[in-house]
Amino acid sequence: MTIADAILKDRFEGCLLGLAVGDALGGKFEAQSAEAIRARFPTAERLIAYPQEEIWYTDDTQMAIGVCEALIERGEIVEEVLCRAFVANYLPSRGYGRGARAVLDAMEDGRDYRQVAEKHFPGGSFGNGAAMRVAPIGLLFRDDLRRLWEQARLSSLPTHLHPLGIEGAQVLALAVGLCSNMEQFDRAGFFAELLAACASPEYRAKLEAAALVQTPDELAKLGNRIEALHSVSTAIASFALTPESFEAAISNVIFLGGDTDTLAAMAGALSGAYLGAGRLPARLVGLLESSPKGRAYLQQLAAQLSVVYQSE
Ligand SMILES: [Mg+2]
Repeated sequence: MTIADAILKDRFEGCLLGLAVGDALGGKFEAQSAEAIRARFPTAERLIAYPQEEIWYTDDTQMAIGVCEALIERGEIVEEVLCRAFVANYLPSRGYGRGARAVLDAMEDGRDYRQVAEKHFPGGSFGNGAAMRVAPIGLLFRDDLRRLWEQARLSSLPTHLHPLGIEGAQVLALAVGLCSNMEQFDRAGFFAELLAACASPEYRAKLEAAALVQTPDELAKLGNRIEALHSVSTAIASFALTPESFEAAISNVIFLGGDTDTLAAMAGALSGAYLGAGRLPARLVGLLESSPKGRAYLQQLAAQLSVVYQSE
C-alpha cells in the first residue's frame, strides 16, 4: 500500500466511523432541549467523556451502511439495489421515524413505496433522512462533482422527493467530498465551492450564513430540526468552525438539542472525512458497538469502498 492509499483508506474510515460515533452519542439526546443538555454537561469534555459502555448507532448509520453496501455492489446508485440494502439493514428499533417506517415496510413487502412516501409526505419529504445517509457518495465521487451531485439525488429518491430534501443530501455529499480531499482546511474555498453548486435560494442563504459563523452559540440560528434545510448547514458550519477537532464538531451540534443524532452524524462524517480515522477520539471509537454490523464492519466497508474508488 502506498502512502496515498493509506491516507485514502484512513479518510474513508474516518468518515464512516465519525458518522456512527456522532450518531450514537447524539442519539442519547435526541429531542432534548439545549438547556437540558447544557445543565447536565457544562463542557464538551464532559459530554465526550459521558459514555462508559458500548454506544449504539441509530437509523442514520444503518441507512448509510445500506448506501455503502449498494455502492460497493454496483459502483453507483441503482435504486433497486439500494432499496434492497435498506430493507436488509432495517431494524425499526433503531429510531426510524413513523413515515420512514411506513416507506420501508412497503419496500420490504414489495409494495409501491413511492406512493406510500407521497401519502406520508405530500409533495415529497424535505426531512434530513437523505442527507444523514449520503456520506459514502461524497467519498466515492469526490473527484467528479457533477456525478456526485447526481448520485446524491438518485440516492434520495426512494424516500425523499422534495427538492429541499434532495438538495440537502447533495450539499452534504459535496461537503464530505471536499473534506475528504483537503489537506489543509480552506474555509473560504470550502464555502465558495458549496455555494457555487447549490441550486436554491434557500440553501444559498443558509450556506452564506454558515460561512459567517464565528462561535458555537451562533450555530443555533441555522437550526436543529429534522428538516434538511434546518440541519444540513448547521452540521457543515459546526465542522467548519472547529475543523481540527472532531470532539468539538459533534459536541457543538449536540448542545443545540433537537435532532441531535442526525446533526452529530452529519458533522461527524464531515470531520472524520477530513481528519481521518487516526485522529478520531480513540476511546469513543472503541466504545462503538461490536455487533455484527458495528465498528469492525464499518472499517471493512470503508476499505471496500476505497477499493471501488480506486478502480473507477
Ligand atoms: Mg437517527
